[in-house]
Amino acid sequence: MKELYRDEAVVLRTYRLRESDRIVVLLTQEHGKVRAVAHGVRKTNSKFGGRLEPMSHIAVQLRRGRELDTVSQAESLDRLGPLLSSLDRTSQGMAAIEAAEQLALDREPTPQLFRSTVGVLRTIAERPSPMNVPAFYWKLLAAEGLSPVLDACVRCEESGDEVELVAFDLDEGGVLCRNCRSGVSVSPAALSLLRCVLGGRLNEALAAPESPATHEVGLLATRAMEHHLERRLKAIALFERH
Ligand SMILES: [Zn+2]
Repeated sequence: MKELYRDEAVVLRTYRLRESDRIVVLLTQEHGKVRAVAHGVRKTNSKFGGRLEPMSHIAVQLRRGRELDTVSQAESLDRLGPLLSSLDRTSQGMAAIEAAEQLALDREPTPQLFRSTVGVLRTIAERPSPMNVPAFYWKLLAAEGLSPVLDACVRCEESGDEVELVAFDLDEGGVLCRNCRSGVSVSPAALSLLRCVLGGRLNEALAAPESPATHEVGLLATRAMEHHLERRLKAIALFERH
């Protein structure tokens, strides 16, 4: 008798497997990232209905397997409608779960990542903002211990009103003054948005209308996430060689 377990999960991705089956990749609350087979999910009368689509938030019962678990039940916990109601929301939701998938570890619980992912999907559904995904990325990076220095030049440590902080360098881990500048340039408006996101004024950031600054913070967030994931992949490769 194989072990059954229940958990909450967000569907990150699905792959076709055989004619009517699919592999679903789940970010679970208590069991980390789990790959599981859903039998008959592609049939029109499937008992899972549309509940195993990417971004779905579900209560799930799984049967543990050697490599792949098997989904035996799935109930939806949030209605997906609003997320799928516009291309913009759908692509924001997909960007959010892509990052979650890369940060999650196989069968290693990351409850904070799970909660943030459910949270951002709800926010995207209920309160569209160009800052939803960038704020999510920066929060995830901060949770990984990568909060950028935003109030002083990261190289010469000059701070204060007379110091212009004009650049952002991912390798340095923060902003730089005009003399030390490297990396990409950052506008005062984008810097102030970043400070809102990372300084406990998230609602203020989410209320910002779309502007060049929100675009700038979005690009920077994507670069920072890629930078972090690349470094982590290299570290894992190095670790596995030894
Ligand atoms: Zn400096």
